[in-house]
Amino acid sequence: MRVVLEARSDYAFVGELVETATAWLRDQGLDEDPGADIVAQVLSAPSFAMSADLNGTTTVWHAVVLRRVEDGVPPYELLVRVRATVKKRHFPEGASTAVPAAITAKDLHLDLIDLADDAEVGVLMDHYISMVRELGPMRSARTLPYNILVLGNPHELGCADTPADWQQQLTFLADAFDANITFERGPSVAGVPKNLMCLVRFDPFAGELPRKKKADGSDDQDEIEHTAIEARFTTFKEAFQRICAALNAFEPPQTSDEFTPRDLKPGEKIYHRKIGNAVGYDRFNAGSTESCQHTTEYVRYYNSDKAVKGFKRRYTNFEPSWMHHCKQGGCGMYAVFCPS
Ligand SMILES: [Zn+2]
Repeated sequence: MRVVLEARSDYAFVGELVETATAWLRDQGLDEDPGADIVAQVLSAPSFAMSADLNGTTTVWHAVVLRRVEDGVPPYELLVRVRATVKKRHFPEGASTAVPAAITAKDLHLDLIDLADDAEVGVLMDHYISMVRELGPMRSARTLPYNILVLGNPHELGCADTPADWQQQLTFLADAFDANITFERGPSVAGVPKNLMCLVRFDPFAGELPRKKKADGSDDQDEIEHTAIEARFTTFKEAFQRICAALNAFEPPQTSDEFTPRDLKPGEKIYHRKIGNAVGYDRFNAGSTESCQHTTEYVRYYNSDKAVKGFKRRYTNFEPSWMHHCKQGGCGMYAVFCPS
């Protein structure tokens, strides 16, 4: 919000938001909770903020989840969202002084949520999707580490209230979880993508569920773990919540972090993708001698203590100066170049 407003802008809207918040809290019987505090949090320390220029004005969304702990009241969580439109600084016709940027419309939404409840993670993601739908995807296409496969078309299978843009909504959701998404109507399925984060099957999906080789290497095949959704007895909203819960429960396979630390050999070049965060260090995949598709464009990578610690766990002779990173924005591939 600060980016689009100026020092000379009129900040009276903050007071109005505080009034709205205070009235809402009073209606909920939560009037111990200071509305000013909540408004300050969502405006100056949002956990989510995005803006876009639409029709000559700037639309800004801020959101934050606040956990409230008060004496005598069970702890509760508040989802606070502000949507505002801002008319940019401009010169009225014939005027020599600019009119500062101003808020032309604003809305404050407060919702009580319970993030310990799986279904409410879906509620949160639903709010997120509504923001992304209005303002557009947050980032351009890039290489995402995980995959989601959706079998069956909920609309055709009788899932109530399936919106026309259901695939788009699930694509935005997948993006929020760093995953690509593939839709298959069946009956045949091209295959199961690598790094599968979640397989969703809307029944009665006509096709066979893909299978995977048993770990013991025998010809028997195991059914792949999946989220089965009875389309005819489920609303799309419930299906969306189930998918959110499945994505939220996903944990990257731990095996990829099981490695024996070793020395890098002179001249060795290994490329790694980051697959997660541990306390104090970054976790990287097993690594490969194959770079990303951007090949040679690697630059020294500084200022990441956690990445250095992640590589030190893996390579016993690791020096921070060996750490490189793909130059291409959004690629995210790391490289370790041991001097020869
Ligand atoms: Zn790259």
